[in-house]
Amino acid sequence: MSVVLYLDKISGQMEKVLLGVCPEGLEIKFLDPVYGVKGTIEEANYFLATNYLVTKEVIDKAPSLKMVQRTGVGYDNVDIGHAKSRNVPVSITLGTNASSVAELTILFMLALYRKLIILNSAAKEGKWISWTYRHESFELLGKTIGVIGAGAIGREVIKRLLPFGVKVVYYDVYRLKPEVEAELGITYCGLDELLAQADIVTIHVPWLESTRGLIGRSELAKMKKNAVLINTARGPIVDQKALVEALKAGNIAGAGLDVFDPEPFTAGADILQFENVLTTPHIGAATLDNYLRVFDFCIANIQRAERNEKPLNVINGL
Ligand code: NAD
Repeated sequence: MSVVLYLDKISGQMEKVLLGVCPEGLEIKFLDPVYGVKGTIEEANYFLATNYLVTKEVIDKAPSLKMVQRTGVGYDNVDIGHAKSRNVPVSITLGTNASSVAELTILFMLALYRKLIILNSAAKEGKWISWTYRHESFELLGKTIGVIGAGAIGREVIKRLLPFGVKVVYYDVYRLKPEVEAELGITYCGLDELLAQADIVTIHVPWLESTRGLIGRSELAKMKKNAVLINTARGPIVDQKALVEALKAGNIAGAGLDVFDPEPFTAGADILQFENVLTTPHIGAATLDNYLRVFDFCIANIQRAERNEKPLNVINGL
């Protein structure tokens, strides 16, 4: 029986969801279980990893490791080069989580524009502040949205945005085909132009050396004073110190952040001081709907490897 080891701490309910999709022939164990069976890295044939750091040391502790299966699309937490040198494929769950992340992105936009969290908190305290924020509450209708990265998530965001009556400009290292741009009704532009035009800037690129600090002090300075920044991609893509400065100086109007640098943030971190910054603890993909798709994919992919077939979505060249 092959052992699939879930590396991250997950809730008891989600352990049950995962165990519920486990077929015969595989045994799912947890490094840090609530109800499930405790397993060890040493005995694992497969790693299932969400955010757990799968370092060289972790990989080397598992002599029988056949595959690292991520439950998401980023793979910055896995030493993919070392996995390759050990002949261990690393697979990602491409295309499963785009809708969850896209919906959170739209939620940030609407919630920031309508001061949802502030008004809800005031209401719960019994305060009726119906006039306080009218001068700085907005519709999406007629606004320009700048999408940085038009991959799986960026395109799902765009599809959901267009019915709001917005104009979408996008920037990506790879330009979409003209017919795709035409079908979506979106315009390609350079990063500087996007930052200058957009009322909302939303980031959907991976965290790579080339994207670290992609939005830094000078990029924030190019944004409109009434623009908001959404980051549901990865924390280090935005220079968080520069973002704090821009918010303090009122150079941008707010931010919606699902991701931080570092993660998890510490209580009292500078970025948490602002009323106009909405924060969630890296839960872009964290819906049951997504996890049902993700777990199904992961188990089917592990079964593929068990049958000595090539697993899908391998990103380390094996
Ligand atoms: P994707 O690979 O489909 O799309 C990424 C896009 O970014 C591609 O079109 C690529 O050409 C573009 N790109 C790469 N480098 C660039 C650069 N330097 N400048 C401009 N464009 C560049 O990936 P995706 O599925 O859309 O996911 C995007 C990122 O979202 C992931 O890498 C991951 O880090 C993040 N993510 C976050 C969560 C969350 O929980 N918040 C969940 C899933 C994914």
